[in-house]
Amino acid sequence: MSRPLAIFGGTFDPIHLGHLSVAWEASELLDAEVRLMPASVPPHRPSPLANAQQRVAMLKAALQKQSRLTLDTRELERSGPSYTIDTLAELRKEEGDRPLVLLLGADAFAGLPSWHRWRELFDVAHIGVLSRPGVDVAWSDELLTAIGPRLIDDASALRVLPTGKVMELSVTPLEISATRVRELLAEGRDPRYLLPCGLFDDPSILAPYRKA
Ligand code: ATP
Repeated sequence: MSRPLAIFGGTFDPIHLGHLSVAWEASELLDAEVRLMPASVPPHRPSPLANAQQRVAMLKAALQKQSRLTLDTRELERSGPSYTIDTLAELRKEEGDRPLVLLLGADAFAGLPSWHRWRELFDVAHIGVLSRPGVDVAWSDELLTAIGPRLIDDASALRVLPTGKVMELSVTPLEISATRVRELLAEGRDPRYLLPCGLFDDPSILAPYRKA
């Protein structure tokens, strides 16, 4: 079976070192290609401050000079809300029986039962849950019942089956959120070491978050 393809979706408003570090470590732990996939109209979230074009520019700046993490902008090119189940079903058709892994931070995973057709996600992909400090979330009984028989603790199983397993990936905890980064930028501060250095090359790139 081929090298897994892992998908890490998010608003990335803006992309920060928390995202990049956990995506990088997941890529190492799973020996996977990890694609960062910015969402256009997040079904569960308020609109991003940066528009799609600005978020793509930040992602491109962040992903320079490395080859493990790639960018997939398909959800931005689709009109209407981008449901993860539709994106994964499309990828499943493209990738044949290649293992697909949906990567979610622990907070996003806790909210899974509110997602559109969430139970079908296990038919098209595995789920990798990334530890995330500073978020106080409990997994509901509904979620625990659904994942109970699917939980595994050895990444090699994700390589031999195309879909259906759930694994917690123990990544280095970094308590960084885009909310905090936006707050700092709005205060006129310079969160230089919470963001990839490529975002500071062009001063206009962080303009959507600065107060006029
Ligand atoms: P916001 O503060 O605006 O809610 P965010 O920092 O949570 O943003 P998102 O783009 O919403 O970033 O997150 C995309 C994915 O990245 C989600 O699955 C989220 O759980 C995960 N994630 C974000 N930051 C971290 C982090 N520091 N550690 C682990 N996972 C993270």
